[in-house]
Amino acid sequence: MKRKILVSACLLGHKVRYDNGDVPCLDARFLKWYEEGRLVSICPEVTGGLPTPRPDAQIQGDRVVTGSGADVTAEFEKGARATLELALKHDVALAILKQDSPSCGTLYIYDGTFTDNKIPGEGRTTALLRRNGFKVYGEDQLDEVERELALIDG
Ligand code: SF4
Repeated sequence: MKRKILVSACLLGHKVRYDNGDVPCLDARFLKWYEEGRLVSICPEVTGGLPTPRPDAQIQGDRVVTGSGADVTAEFEKGARATLELALKHDVALAILKQDSPSCGTLYIYDGTFTDNKIPGEGRTTALLRRNGFKVYGEDQLDEVERELALIDG
């Protein structure tokens, strides 16, 4: 049986983003993995206790803060730990998370100035998953995911 794939809930069309929206991934490969029942989803920020909608947040050094300066680091860390537990429980093959998010970003995040400027970096959940040995890709890296799954699935 093929192993599960961890995904950001917003990529599956769940309206869990800070603005109450979603960003469904409509790539045919992603939809196929969904049809095969391989996807396990979570929103780290909602699981960490934050509401939807919620203020936009960005990473500033070791902290995660909203535009008005509220510290939401604890909620982000709680969500990251819950996501790691889910990944371990399902022994996922890898993760596909939403690019640019302060939780889920895999290659880029916003720079903490709330000016729409992106920098190379990773979200708090992505970082924790990677520290624990999981490979994490963005929804814009499905070519790499496909190659990785071909090796894992055999
Ligand atoms: S925390 Fe991740 S799953 Fe939740 S809305 Fe943001 S990008 Fe999507």
